[in-house]
Parts: sequence; C-alpha cells; structure tokens
Amino acid sequence: MKIGVLALQGAYREHVDTLHAIGVEAVEVRLPAHLALVDGLILPGGESTTMRKLIDRWGLREPMLRLAHSGAPIFGTCAGMIVLAREIDGDEPPIVPVLDVTVERNAFGRQLDSFEAELVVPVLGSTPVHGVFIRAPVISRTGPDVDVLARLDDGRIVAVRERNVIATAFHPELAGETRFHRLVATMAAEHADPGEGSGRRHHPTRRAGRAP
Ligand code: GLN
Repeated sequence: MKIGVLALQGAYREHVDTLHAIGVEAVEVRLPAHLALVDGLILPGGESTTMRKLIDRWGLREPMLRLAHSGAPIFGTCAGMIVLAREIDGDEPPIVPVLDVTVERNAFGRQLDSFEAELVVPVLGSTPVHGVFIRAPVISRTGPDVDVLARLDDGRIVAVRERNVIATAFHPELAGETRFHRLVATMAAEHADPGEGSGRRHHPTRRAGRAP
C-alpha cells in the first residue's frame, strides 16, 4: 500500500516525512502516471492558485478526479482543501471538486495571518489536535453528506470528511500530528485490499501472490 503526495508546490516534504514516520511508503506525485501507483493521495498546503496552474499544466485534474471517484482516500490540508472544494468563495472556478463544501480563502485576514489552536477532533480520540494555521481558509458551507470533524472555539469549521475525502484548514504535519495520516493509511489499506465483511470482493491479483 502506497500513498501519494502531490509534489508540485508547497509543503509536500512534511507529508512525505509524516508518512515515513508511521511506516507508510510515500510516492511524490508530479505526473498522471504516478497516480496509478497509489492507493490514496495527500494534497499539501501551499498556494492554491499556483497549484491550479500546475495541476492543469501536467494534466492531473482528470486522473485525480478518477482516483477520488474510485473511493481511494484523498486528504487535503490548507491549499489542498481549497483544491478539493466544490466551491471557492469569490467566483474562482473549482479545481478538483470532490468535496461538497464552500471555502473562503485567507479567511483570517491580515490581523491574524498565522496562528495555532488546540482543536477537539472526536474521530481522532480525546487528545486535542494542535492545529497550525497559515493564511488558512475556512469552510463556510457544508453539503448534506459532509461530516464536520473540527471547529474553532468561535464555531468556524476547519476540518471535514465526506466519505473518502478529508480536508483540514490547518497543517497537522507541521505539528508532529500523525493521527490524520494514520486514518488515511487505514482507509487506503482497506481500499487497496477490502477485507472480509466489507461486502466487496477481494482483489484477485493482490491475493494471488500471497502465502497460503
Ligand atoms: N492562502 C493559501 C491559498 O489561498 C493557502 C495557504 C496554505 O496552504 N498554508 O491558497
């Protein structure tokens, strides 16, 4: 099982390091062919306008949509969340719209460019997540199938999940937080080789090489 990290721009190195720290093989994704090698994909923070241009230049939009629609886990942080959003506030067209939310870019304005906050994320257990926010977006609308995973104290939504797609406005990978990556790895392993009881058939080629 391998997890790709979109490595066109931005803070992808930290995601690769986090995957290695939890013992997961990482693939730096720069070309469509790289997406064929992975069972899940992480989109890092950075600058979503630049990511938009590079995704188009390298023909990654369609294969990323296909990967998401196949049910493989997709996890976007900060600019990565903007890439996945179905709507971007301010009339920008969406980039790889697989998450039914509206995001507002640079939502914290000049006064509060970057900050850190302790966040309660019940799906990850009782220990709070230390969130690092850097010119971060917020989610201003969630579709009916979107679960809210975390909010700031003022109620603004900063982490969500819609089936196989997870997004955070903050950077867990900059704070040594590994639980989101572990969750994505568990989902990717299940996607790569659905086990008994999942209601899906085993993948024949992946079973073939296994010891009896
Ligand atoms: N402000 C950036 C954008 O709008 C996101 C910042 C980040 O990824 N840390 O694309």
